[in-house]
Amino acid sequence: MLYSGQTFLVAGLSRSGIAASEYLLSRGARVYCFDDVEDGSVAKTAQELGAKGCVVLHKEDLERRAAECDILVLSPGIPVDHPLPVSFKRAGKRVIGEMELGALNLHCDAVAVTGTNGKTTTVTMLDGIFKAAGKKSVACGNIGKPLCSCVKELGEDGLAVIEVSSFQLETLYSLRPHVAVILNVTEDHLNRHYNMENYIYLKSRLLKNCAESEFSVLNHDDPIVRGFAEKTKAKPVWFSLREPVEGGYLNEGSFCYMGEKLFPVSDLPLDGEHNAANALAAICAAKLFGIPNETIAAALKTFRGVAHRLQRVGELDGVNFIDDSKATNVDSAIKAVKSVRGESVLLVGGKDKGYSYEPLFDAVKNSGVVHTVIYGENAFRILGAALKKGYTAVTLCRPFDVAVRVAYLTAKKGQNVLLSPASASFDAFRNYEERGERFREMLEVLTAEKRSGGVVPPAEDDVAEE
Ligand code: ADP
Repeated sequence: MLYSGQTFLVAGLSRSGIAASEYLLSRGARVYCFDDVEDGSVAKTAQELGAKGCVVLHKEDLERRAAECDILVLSPGIPVDHPLPVSFKRAGKRVIGEMELGALNLHCDAVAVTGTNGKTTTVTMLDGIFKAAGKKSVACGNIGKPLCSCVKELGEDGLAVIEVSSFQLETLYSLRPHVAVILNVTEDHLNRHYNMENYIYLKSRLLKNCAESEFSVLNHDDPIVRGFAEKTKAKPVWFSLREPVEGGYLNEGSFCYMGEKLFPVSDLPLDGEHNAANALAAICAAKLFGIPNETIAAALKTFRGVAHRLQRVGELDGVNFIDDSKATNVDSAIKAVKSVRGESVLLVGGKDKGYSYEPLFDAVKNSGVVHTVIYGENAFRILGAALKKGYTAVTLCRPFDVAVRVAYLTAKKGQNVLLSPASASFDAFRNYEERGERFREMLEVLTAEKRSGGVVPPAEDDVAEE
């Protein structure tokens, strides 16, 4: 791709839009930028980009000035069927994402990780393993560090560990990772991709460019992911929690890879079978890069987990607060409900993404969840699913702060308040991090109130007290 002499329009001025604009400017391109939100922080970003040499477009002149542009760099937040990318495509012009821009300029080996859930956890595990092995590894992509912001730093001898979301896959064409990992595919983002067929197709696109010399690390326990092996030339390496496979699996309580025993599953400092699956995926990818077993074991045994993923954030009066705010779909909340030890009051709700909540209540009914507090914009859809499943141990209340308070007051000593929303956060928060932070703040508020005698403490558990 030529840069100087070409005009790019970067649409969407979040982290990836900023990175794309800066990268393009550094390559001598003419860069126009635009965001249809013109609030304080976006306006500040636009101003900063303007100072660096971008031409900032406003709504009123977008259509006219967009016609001057050759290529559209679309934020992952903007769907490909939005009128702006549609108008570029109609004019025969290219529409790419920031990650595509990075992929076109990546000169080192890459591992790419996608899946509905577990991407960040697995990418973080892998990055830790590679760093422990002395590699110049950079965790990037959807994890929060745009790929084009680190292609220079990666150079030719780096190792890019790239988290790839389905939104990014919509506008990614050129990435050819040495190892492509697909963790799982369950219902998510149906409000964006319309149906599971589209969503599955997008996930499979990670494998599209892989040739016989590359590897796909695939979840053998997931029927959709298993099917991807037929759609790629890459050699499949499997991982499974259930059976010995050609790749990573469990045997006699230990992680194994192709007949070699690595270390006991109980030494992985994370709860939940899903995290054992993530570790197996990371083990497979690391082995494909020739990392020694001892290095892999040492890195995974000291893995600290990632914030807002089943993170215990504190305790008040014997009630544990667990922040799983990143559980933004049903399957991740099911995994939380299944893996959190002891009894819990569950907090669910937020912004709807178009899928069914019923499977969550199948899991809840067979778990340590003693009560569910439902909040958020989708509260009535969730309540409907609960009642349809014959689950009635619910309280419906809004807003979020009140829901956290009610969950705490409902929990008994020794139980957990588990925030695992099964929903996006955008009805009330900027993102899941902000929701998780608010949960932690509410713990502080309740703690302060408790100290000053303002809140009724949790009821004693009669049975436990006798
Ligand atoms: P992603 O980056 O794909 O969103 P994360 O690692 O950030 O994945 O985890 C998101 C949520 O999914 C968290 O609630 C976490 O506990 C849960 N989770 C992690 N790994 C898995 C998995 N393999 N299957 C299902 N849920 C998972």
